[in-house]
Amino acid sequence: MEPHLPPGRVVRAGHHGFEGYPAHLDLEADVCVIGSGAGGSATAAALAERGLSVVVVEEGRRWLPEQFQGRAPWAFKHLYAGRGTRATRGNCIIPMPGGRGVGGSTLVNSAICFRTPEAVLEDWRTRFGCHHLTDAWMGACFDRIWRTIGVTVNPPEVQRNNNHIFRAGAEALGLAGAWMARSAPGCQGCGTCQQGCSTGGKLSVDRTFLAEAVASGNVGVYADCKVVGVETEGDRVVAVTGRTVRPGDYVEDGAFRVRARAFVVSAGPIGSPRFLLANGLSDGPVGQNLHIHPTAGVAARFDQEIVAWEGVTQGYYVDCWSSGYLLQTFSMPPDQYFLSFPLVGDDMLAFMRDLRHYASAGVVVHDEDSRGEVTESSLVYDLGDLDRTRILAGLRATARVFFAAGATEVVPGVHGVGRIRTVGEIDELLTDDIPAHAIGLYASHPMGTCRMGDDPARSVVDPDGRVWGWRNLHVADASVFPTSLGVNPQVTVMALGLTIGKHVQVS
Ligand SMILES: Cc1cc2nc3c(=O)[nH]c(=O)nc-3n(C[C@H](O)[C@H](O)[C@H](O)COP(=O)(O)OP(=O)(O)OC[C@H]3O[C@@H](n4cnc5c(N)ncnc54)[C@H](O)[C@@H]3O)c2cc1C
Repeated sequence: MEPHLPPGRVVRAGHHGFEGYPAHLDLEADVCVIGSGAGGSATAAALAERGLSVVVVEEGRRWLPEQFQGRAPWAFKHLYAGRGTRATRGNCIIPMPGGRGVGGSTLVNSAICFRTPEAVLEDWRTRFGCHHLTDAWMGACFDRIWRTIGVTVNPPEVQRNNNHIFRAGAEALGLAGAWMARSAPGCQGCGTCQQGCSTGGKLSVDRTFLAEAVASGNVGVYADCKVVGVETEGDRVVAVTGRTVRPGDYVEDGAFRVRARAFVVSAGPIGSPRFLLANGLSDGPVGQNLHIHPTAGVAARFDQEIVAWEGVTQGYYVDCWSSGYLLQTFSMPPDQYFLSFPLVGDDMLAFMRDLRHYASAGVVVHDEDSRGEVTESSLVYDLGDLDRTRILAGLRATARVFFAAGATEVVPGVHGVGRIRTVGEIDELLTDDIPAHAIGLYASHPMGTCRMGDDPARSVVDPDGRVWGWRNLHVADASVFPTSLGVNPQVTVMALGLTIGKHVQVS
């Protein structure tokens, strides 16, 4: 156990919210963690284990499962950064959602869990000097994460048609497919993961890592607190300051200040670089190296009813890692199909009338030659040619799987292509010369914008997660990934949170 603040100065443990705050809230702890998503919550758990007192400040609200309303417009307003309107611009426009609330993006994610691929860890160690990330340490982290967030494969009766039909097609083609492990041991298949899990079947980090940290009696979680500024002395951060946010209308109404001996920025891959940039806290490549795992989808019509929005939201995948992508099922509430598929007029109306007969799946690309950057005011992403052709290859592969499962037509999320009615038409219509701006892209895995490494010229944080040039300022979230990951990232983010939480210097 390490020494922590003497009694009287230790933070009030438990959960706190706007209603209980004075006009000016003053807090103090050994460590202040900014943001309570996958990275911040795992970090807080690791810090609490060291006997340190921790204040976690989170811009969004604290939610209980029964408060979620299961509707996309409600969820965008209350659970998503920028009310769900966040998007990149560049040679295409890509919606890039992120969660906001105690639990961060794990409140709205699909719960898919992948261990960090060994080849990626090897690359991070050899090219970026991430020496803490040994196979043995990461293996121990994965075991702990599996236990803490209840990772399991949901049973077939909960998966339902959208996942079973894709599996049937993949098996017919002899592809390397499997059910995906998920952090939703109590999943009932209501299909609303991305609107907040109202049954409590999903174990988001607010209900697991953060709950564990709070139970230590040494951690206080302050919702409705948006960090804005910083106070420094020499090479130390001494306090962060910000505004309290009124739940409901989200008006900033009140102020707070947190003094601590060390700070961990876990505001996510957009929030963390923006905080460092806005406060001039790094001379390194902050905000650069944005990777997003660009994703595109296909809907496929079957004679039988599918009712894709009932069942596990994302349950089955096909491993095309060696080609640079994965195929994964996905489903959405009906209104989101209307917004996501590029049919128009009567064609769209017919699609919507017939929606119960459609299944959906798509491609998630391990981005390599695309270029992205987060600045204080913009998100830029130019899809590279290699990544664009991987997306198109993945869409063709997805279409083939659906035809193998008996689809009568497929509708790729590509403008100008319309409906594909035979296997033969796939290569004819989904050609490699389709430009980036014609593909309906989506990106829920931003990462890499405060890259970890052993070279201050190429990285923002050192292998301990400490911002170069500062004695007690760290980053722990998806922004520290040195490269694109290639698989769904929440487990890797948690593992890095546990790692950095173990190494935070508190002096
Ligand atoms: C719709 C969706 C589906 C996804 N599905 C999956 C999936 O199935 N499997 C998977 O592995 N990954 C999935 N992901 C990605 C995964 O959830 C994220 O990669 C992961 O949660 C990132 O963790 P993080 O700590 O970096 O950021 P987050 O979890 O996003 O947490 C950042 C937190 O910081 C807070 N914050 C930001 N700025 C401030 C500030 N100034 N002051 C205070 N607080 C602040 C935010 O409100 C937020 O709560 C999904 C993401 C989304 C959006």
